[in-house]
Amino acid sequence: MVSLPQKVLIEPNAIEKIGDMCKELGLNGKPLVICDPALEFGETIARITGAETLSPESSEMAYLKNLSEKAGPFSFIIGVGGGRTIDMAKYLSYLSGKKWVCFPTILSHDGVVSSRAAITDNGAKISLDAKEPVAIAIDSEIIRNAPYRYIAAGAADVVSNVSSVEDWRLGSELGEKYSTVVAELSLLSAKAVISHVKEIRERTEHGIYTLGWSLICSGLAMNIYGSSRPASGSEHNFSHALEKLGSTLIHGEQCALGTIISTYLQNKDWRKIKSVFHELGIPTHVNDMDIGESMLIDALVLAKSIRVHPRYTILDRYHINRARAKEILGNVRII
Ligand SMILES: [Zn+2]
Repeated sequence: MVSLPQKVLIEPNAIEKIGDMCKELGLNGKPLVICDPALEFGETIARITGAETLSPESSEMAYLKNLSEKAGPFSFIIGVGGGRTIDMAKYLSYLSGKKWVCFPTILSHDGVVSSRAAITDNGAKISLDAKEPVAIAIDSEIIRNAPYRYIAAGAADVVSNVSSVEDWRLGSELGEKYSTVVAELSLLSAKAVISHVKEIRERTEHGIYTLGWSLICSGLAMNIYGSSRPASGSEHNFSHALEKLGSTLIHGEQCALGTIISTYLQNKDWRKIKSVFHELGIPTHVNDMDIGESMLIDALVLAKSIRVHPRYTILDRYHINRARAKEILGNVRII
């Protein structure tokens, strides 16, 4: 079953309109705001909507299962914060059976509308079934004032759809089911970001608006298709590998590096993709990162076997040992 958000609001001061938006959607009664205590936005939304706030202390599955009972007396949930807080709100909504509204304060990846939540189980990150939001409100002023690194990472996560769709298309040559329409929806998001890089970089209203919709459409492509296939391929495997090795880069930055490598291996125009990332201000050379050459090499060796999802990617065509990984990373001038 495909579940889509009933309302999307992307505008300056969207925070002030969240109460009216909830009423329009028939979300009456007292909400519970799940928020990051370090941000004032949760308290502001609680004041506007007459909600109570709750700041989970950890994203551990067992802890959240206990916490979900606290949501019982409330009518619905509003998730306010970055990726981790949004994932906790998503998971608590799923456990308590409540509808939830998504209010992201950064746009760093395309998980805002996804039905999956990244939760930890005894310290290990796992992806679990959760629930899509009934509505999304993005306050472009809040996004603009957040550190630019998150905006660039969010844009990069969408651009990475270029290589994930190509991996999917290659899989279809081997008999995998492929939806041209969903693939085009995923690519449309990437193209919108690529053609608005300057506005995104300058954080203009239209730039933030385009990024917001691109992330939502990328997430919708996954929700409609019922898996992350349209927006997660070899580049995401590389990102997961880096994460496992203790990378200090954030998701979108890791995916950007993965996309440069994947488009190179796919014989696509990797130079153009790299220039898009460069223009966005994403670090694309090891000298500009906190992680070293050795971790990048190890991650590329590991990427093929780390697959979170059993799906064909361009990495299946290559045998990549350390020497070959070093050569590839050198060829695309990441090292
Ligand atoms: Zn991603």
